[in-house]
Amino acid sequence: MFPWKDKNSHKKNESNLTRGLFLKNESLKPLGDQIHNYIELNSIDLHKALEEFSSYGISNSKLTQFLHLKSIEAKIETNTESIFESSQYYVVIDESLSENKKKQYKEALDRNEFDNWYEKLKIRFYITTEWIMEDWAYKNNLDYEDYNEISPFSPQDCKVDGVDIDVKTTVSIGSYHGLPYFTRNNQVVKDEVQVAITSSVPKSDDKYSHHFILGIFDSSNYELINLDLNFLSIDSHLKNPCYFHPLQDYFFSSYQYENMDYDKDVIEYWLQSKNITAIAYSISNPLGYFENALKSKIGEAHYGLITIVLELISKKSLYLLPHYFADYLIQKIQKKENIEINLKDTIFSIYKPNEHQEVYIDNLFKLFEILPKVRCKWHPEEGIRDMEIKFIDGHIPTFQAVCSQDPEKQTTIYTYSWKTGQTLIYSSEFICSSPECGGLTHKRKDYESKQMKIYCKASCNKFGREAHKSKFS
Ligand SMILES: [Zn+2]
Ligand SMILES: [Zn+2]
Repeated sequence: MFPWKDKNSHKKNESNLTRGLFLKNESLKPLGDQIHNYIELNSIDLHKALEEFSSYGISNSKLTQFLHLKSIEAKIETNTESIFESSQYYVVIDESLSENKKKQYKEALDRNEFDNWYEKLKIRFYITTEWIMEDWAYKNNLDYEDYNEISPFSPQDCKVDGVDIDVKTTVSIGSYHGLPYFTRNNQVVKDEVQVAITSSVPKSDDKYSHHFILGIFDSSNYELINLDLNFLSIDSHLKNPCYFHPLQDYFFSSYQYENMDYDKDVIEYWLQSKNITAIAYSISNPLGYFENALKSKIGEAHYGLITIVLELISKKSLYLLPHYFADYLIQKIQKKENIEINLKDTIFSIYKPNEHQEVYIDNLFKLFEILPKVRCKWHPEEGIRDMEIKFIDGHIPTFQAVCSQDPEKQTTIYTYSWKTGQTLIYSSEFICSSPECGGLTHKRKDYESKQMKIYCKASCNKFGREAHKSKFS
């Protein structure tokens, strides 16, 4: 029998003293040693162990820190799941919407001068996504005011918890993806708080539509961040999914975690088996041990990214990481610098992006990987080493390899299709066959003729927009 469990009081007092000294001694050891050599060895539950320490008046700060991290990790997981669930909407317009929105839908259809299905679908989607914003606000007990109820031409759609919001959506039908989140007016681009919600239907007349709340963009969230965005600027007219972050982070302070100080050995032990997220979300000062831990995971070539992560942690703005990460990758690509492939996993283990952000970032990695295969369309001996890379802003950007002999000759290596909205990435066989065009083509079965057709950039004289109008329709 263990002496401290002995009922004999004399022996018990004596063994209490021994036990106390033993525990005191344990509590000072590095966390890994405590857990391996004492707690796990005796199959003691971590919470029970901490209780025993405190019953002897011993504060085991290392174990306390570890349990705190575990509770934060669990909260982050729950939050991530609930953000995902509350962002998904399946809508039947005649049934799901509120009475007000049904009325606005009917009025908007009556007001509509264009008698075509596409315009009607756009109306259906913008009313539906406004309703989703309304529904989300009510489900989260936030004040909601519908400006469209007063005027359908109101520049802002609604006010949620005191914030004026413009709801933006995309139109996707089957494999076609429309151009999203375009804002014309410069001042509006700067001042407007936007909520982006995707809209898609399998077929144009489908009763059900699927929607995903990508999140919110508010340029004031960037004011305190001491970092530059070189390509994906906050006043861009065309925003991609990486600009938007969860509504929950924006509206609820409960999505922030208290500032903690962790011992070096606690950080080291945690990072052996768990991912960085819980520490990144709660550490009060990320410099020092944590910074070193990051450096052990991220190669020297990417220390610039560590600066980004540390700044976002210290400003409690980790949700902006997908935006800064995408911008960082574009800069690396444009400068033709190396990108380590495991970088993505490390960054995603600090902040988990949504699936749309992941696709956007994955595609940038694909672009990086094909760079060595790129050849100038006009001079096959000319590789990417000899050429500059030109970036053109867009919700999906365009990258072109510029000929070193004639800068007017540009080979497109990354872009989107004006026909289907899909991302196109270089492969030598997809380069346009028209002698003067360096565009990227893709094939698509024509809806009416059922024939495969080739599409190049909109301005291409052989496979562009006009060419398709005159020759093919
Ligand atoms: Zn060339
Ligand atoms: Zn072409």
